Amino acid sequence: MRLKVWGARGSVPAPGPEMNRYGGNTSCVEITLASGEHIILDAGTGIRTLGLDLTSSPHVNILLTHLHLDHIQGLMFFPPCFRADADITIWGPASPEASLEDRVARYISAPLSPVEVRELPCDVSFRDTPPSEWQLGSATIRCEAINHRGPTLGFRITDGDTTLCYIPDHEPALGTVLADNEPEWISGYDLARDADLLIHDCQYADDEYPLHVGWGHSGMTDSLTFASRVGAQRLLLFHHDPLHADGFLDDLHAAARRRWAELGGDSASVEMAREGAVLDVEPVAAPAGISGA
Ligand SMILES: [Zn+2]
Ligand SMILES: [Zn+2]
Repeated sequence: MRLKVWGARGSVPAPGPEMNRYGGNTSCVEITLASGEHIILDAGTGIRTLGLDLTSSPHVNILLTHLHLDHIQGLMFFPPCFRADADITIWGPASPEASLEDRVARYISAPLSPVEVRELPCDVSFRDTPPSEWQLGSATIRCEAINHRGPTLGFRITDGDTTLCYIPDHEPALGTVLADNEPEWISGYDLARDADLLIHDCQYADDEYPLHVGWGHSGMTDSLTFASRVGAQRLLLFHHDPLHADGFLDDLHAAARRRWAELGGDSASVEMAREGAVLDVEPVAAPAGISGA
């Protein structure tokens, strides 16, 4: 699998010269499967530039983790939405409150939008994610509800012998002690277990987290402890706080690498998500010291 980050920011777009290296667009990741097909993870503002890159007759699957604005805001500016030859399937969490289409339409409708979903010229359909795994192209997808505010999913995508897990908004440490809790009490444990790459929430530095307990996001050490507990081989820290400029994220990255080494991992396997970055995801043999326990 190949992955491209189109938006790594959380909460709200954060443009500006001090954000240029990590980028200001909100959550959007493109996965290219071994078969050549594409899956888009979330539709934050990063999906706009992704859409400019798509050429003839786009057939697009978009997996939404949840409907917070930083994960859907780019939809209305996704160029294929305005192409009659585009076929777009949007997958997202079910809710007893309203259908996925009706919930997304609260954003793509007056007075927030000049167009309504039914007016889009593309062929768009909305699908609740199924409770059991399903196929998209050559990939097997599984999702699970995880600890965040409102119905929120993480995704596990397996293509051949490679697995990545995407959990951009997650507070697994809420109400639990990650370092020594039983696996069944850790949100997202089965979903992320032994992933070759885990893309995970790292909204806060450790000294910021105590002021944000219950906001639905992770401090740096909690992100790493979660990754270590599930046996993830490689970690891409994601969903950067809009206040975190490039220099701050460089320092957070260095601290994360030191912490990962203390947990027994290879410090080079912790990366900071950066807009425009392309990563090849390959199966990784488990090194000593990182277990799935
Ligand atoms: Zn978010
Ligand atoms: Zn959220």
